[in-house]
Formats: sequence, C-alpha cells, structure tokens
Amino acid sequence: MTHVAIIGGGPGGYEAALVAARHGAEVTIVERDGWGGSTVLTDCVPSKTLIATADVLTEVAESLELGVELPSGVHADLAQVNRRVLDLALAQSRDIGERLASSGVRTVRGTGRLVSGTTVEVTTPDGDVDTLEADAVLIATGAHPRVVASAQPDGERILTWEQVYALQEVPEHMIVVGSGVTGAEFASAYNGLGARVTLVSSRDRVLPGEDPDAADTIEDVFRRRGMDVLGNSRMASVERIGDRVVVTLTDGRTVEGSHCLLALGSIPNTEGLGLAENGILLDDGGFVRVDRVSRTTAPGVYAAGDCTGVLMLASVAAQQGRIAMSHVLGSAVHPLALSEVSSNIFTSPEIATVGLSQKKLDEQGIEADVAMLPLAANPRAKMQGVRDGFVKLFARRGSGTVIGGVIVGPRASELIHVVSLAVMTSLTVDQVANAFTVYPSMSGTVAEVARRIHRPE
Ligand SMILES: Cc1cc2nc3c(=O)[nH]c(=O)nc-3n(C[C@H](O)[C@H](O)[C@H](O)COP(=O)(O)OP(=O)(O)OC[C@H]3O[C@@H](n4cnc5c(N)ncnc54)[C@H](O)[C@@H]3O)c2cc1C
Repeated sequence: MTHVAIIGGGPGGYEAALVAARHGAEVTIVERDGWGGSTVLTDCVPSKTLIATADVLTEVAESLELGVELPSGVHADLAQVNRRVLDLALAQSRDIGERLASSGVRTVRGTGRLVSGTTVEVTTPDGDVDTLEADAVLIATGAHPRVVASAQPDGERILTWEQVYALQEVPEHMIVVGSGVTGAEFASAYNGLGARVTLVSSRDRVLPGEDPDAADTIEDVFRRRGMDVLGNSRMASVERIGDRVVVTLTDGRTVEGSHCLLALGSIPNTEGLGLAENGILLDDGGFVRVDRVSRTTAPGVYAAGDCTGVLMLASVAAQQGRIAMSHVLGSAVHPLALSEVSSNIFTSPEIATVGLSQKKLDEQGIEADVAMLPLAANPRAKMQGVRDGFVKLFARRGSGTVIGGVIVGPRASELIHVVSLAVMTSLTVDQVANAFTVYPSMSGTVAEVARRIHRPE
C-alpha cells in the first residue's frame, strides 16, 4: 500500500487526501489551523458569504427602477452578517474534517515540516513531536496576507482580509488599499453594504492584468455608485490616529477614513518547512517550483495550491492536489491546463473569464477573431434592469474554435460555464451559436456573440 503524507488541509491538501484514500492509499493529513484551510476559514468562503449580503442590498437599491417600493433605511446589521459568515465557515470546516475522517484519511492537528523527502515531522499543539514516514509527500501549505512595516494591521481599524469579520458595524469610510481581485471584491462589497469607500490603486486602472474592457466597466460602475477610485496612487503608510486612519500616498497626499483594509497580495507559507534543505527549489518570492503534474524538484515530493503561486485559486489548488495523487498512484494523469481554467471576480457585477485572454493571445502570437456585445441589448437584461456588462468571445482564426471568453454581468460565474465547456471540448463558434438558448435569457447573448464571429464561406 502507498503511504502519502500531506501538509496543509486547504483544498490543495484535502481534495488530494480524499482522492488518494479513494484509490486505496494510506493517507495522513496534517493541519495547523483548521480543516478547509484559509479558503474556508478566512478567504474564499467568508468573503463570498459577506458578498452575498452586499449583493442583495445592491439589488434592492437598484430595484426602484423595477417599480419596487421600499421602506427607507434598508441596511445590513454587520454584526449579524459577520456572525453568519463565521458560523458558515466553521460549519464547512467541520464538514470537511468529518468527510476526511469518514473517508479513511488519518487527520492530525499540528505543524508539519519536511525532514527528508520521505519523512514529515509533526509538532502537535501540545508540543509533542511525531514522525510520519511516507512514499510520497504533498506540500499544500497555502499563503498568508502580505503586510508592510509602514502599514501594520491592528485588527480594529487597520485590517487584513482575515480580520474584517470582527467588525460589528458597517464602517463609515473604508479605505481599501490595493485594486487587484481581493481589493476590488471588498471595495465592491463594502460599497454595497453602505459604507463610503475609497479604493487606492497604484496603477492607472483597477484590476490590472484582467481584461481591459471588464476593468473599465467595473471602474465605471464603482464611480457611478459613489466610490472614490484613486488611480496612480501608491500607498506609503497607514497610521491610526484615535478612531481614524490616515493613508499617506507616496506623492504626499493623504486620505482619511474610519477603517483601512490592506489587500497587498499574498506570501507563500514555505518558510521553516525544510524545503530548500531537502532539494526543493523555490523561486525568488518563496513559491515552490512545480511542473504541470505538481512535482517539485525533489523526487517523491509534490506541491499544490497557493504555496506554488501557479494560479491562486481554490479550484486550481484542488486540481493540482488531485493531479499529484494520480501521478503518485499511477492513475491516468491529465497535466494542469491553465488555458482551461475559469475564474470569477465577485464584484457587482461579476467578472468571469475562461481560457486565453487578449494579453495571452498577443504574447503567444495566436490569431483570433473577437466579438463582444453589451448585456444591455439583451431582452432579459432589459426586463431585469441590468445595465452593465458584456459577453466577449475569442475564437481561433480559421477553425473558429472557441479559445476564451469574458462575461461581465450578474451571476457571470454561472454563465461562464457554457464557454468553459466550449473551450474544454474545442467547440466552434457555430456549434455554440446553434445550441438552443432559452428566450429570454442572458445566455442568448453568448450564442449571439458566437454568431457574430461566424464568417460565411
Ligand atoms: C479574500 C480572498 C478571497 C478568495 N476567493 C476565492 C474564490 O472566490 N474562489 C477561488 O477559487 N479562490 C479564492 N481565493 C483564493 C483561494 O483562497 C486560495 O487559492 C486557496 O486558499 C488555496 O488553497 P491552498 O490549499 O493552497 O491553501 P489554504 O487554503 O491556505 O490552505 C493551506 C493550509 O495549510 C495550513 N498550513 C500551513 N503551514 C502548515 C504547516 N507547516 N503544517 C500544517 N499545516 C500548515 C494552513 O493552516 C492552511 O489551513 C481567495 C483568496 C482570498 C485572499
């Protein structure tokens, strides 16, 4: 029987553990903080639960146009919202722990460290030290929020994304520093919850690196909803003065608010794990180097998830973990294909993408046909009062195969699945266009965009 030891109980680790146990391996998983990892306890699950409330309030605020008469002063009780967020996260963590145990996985609470390519040392919360021998080891230790010396979180007014769920009231003025995915999602959420929001972006527009049309759309929506978006504004320091926070920018300007949320990126949890000592190559940022089947540079040692920095998504972490286990256990292995990954930014409206972006097409010199239509022209969108958003598709020139797409709109995370299927199975724009869509429906626009790319022979 193959023995597998896994360090880290987030999606990279626990999904791998479940797959390996199902395939008959003897699996031990070691977790320091809680089953489900940051995904469940501090990052993905809590933020999306908070956003669920913000989305309802945003919809309510915009439903006047649909003839809905509202009592004045509809608002969120943030203490109650955050209680729900934390309860839901803990319940999910408990479910995952139980699922691991009932699947035959040995679960160990403690901190793991690699002693050799086949040995993991575990220090339990009581300080006891145990040793695990394994045929293969998976490192899935995740990442934590980056903080800088000049902007130290205090857990009350200056916050990382892990600390916001202790807030008892909607902040009067939340300053969000960082306009990447996390910064944009929280700025959108607190705006929806009724806070005044200032978004400090070091670049000329929000969501650098994402589809430019999507970024422009969301920035327009943010401004229309009253958010202050400060472009080309780099944070130098954040200071708490009494019950206020002052964010000083590198050009000397200051922004004063009641709270500041730091969204400055993530640092991999790879320090003190014994990785370099055991021949595992890390890059300059401390991320573990892996290939497409999750192998590190040490034989028998695999890595998955945020600690690899490949693509910091729960879905990718889980897939890297599963791929590693297929490789260890000799099952059919499908190497990680980033060109098939779909992802979503949970702003309001949402931004969902799959496959190749315009940037990647340009970099790789791939000739593509592109078409884009606004959702505002869609009959269902008109009925629902949806003004913002679009569908964009990329198709390989010549064959017409769908190779990427961007959808901005309500529930774009759900709508993108059809494009994801098209990319994964190499459907052509004609096949997508000819599949029936419900009338009226938002997916009608996906078919219509595909139709626009079709070129009569
Ligand atoms: C605010 C926010 C929102 C996000 N929302 C989404 C989203 O909507 N969708 C999405 O796909 N992704 C989302 N992500 C990204 C997603 O959370 C990560 O990609 C995911 O957590 C990575 O999973 P992982 O298993 O690599 O790490 P984690 O989930 O971080 O799990 C790693 C685990 O390892 C444990 N650990 C670390 N060191 C040790 C050690 N030495 N011994 C034992 N245990 C150890 C940690 O305690 C942790 O529990 C979000 C990220 C953030 C910051």
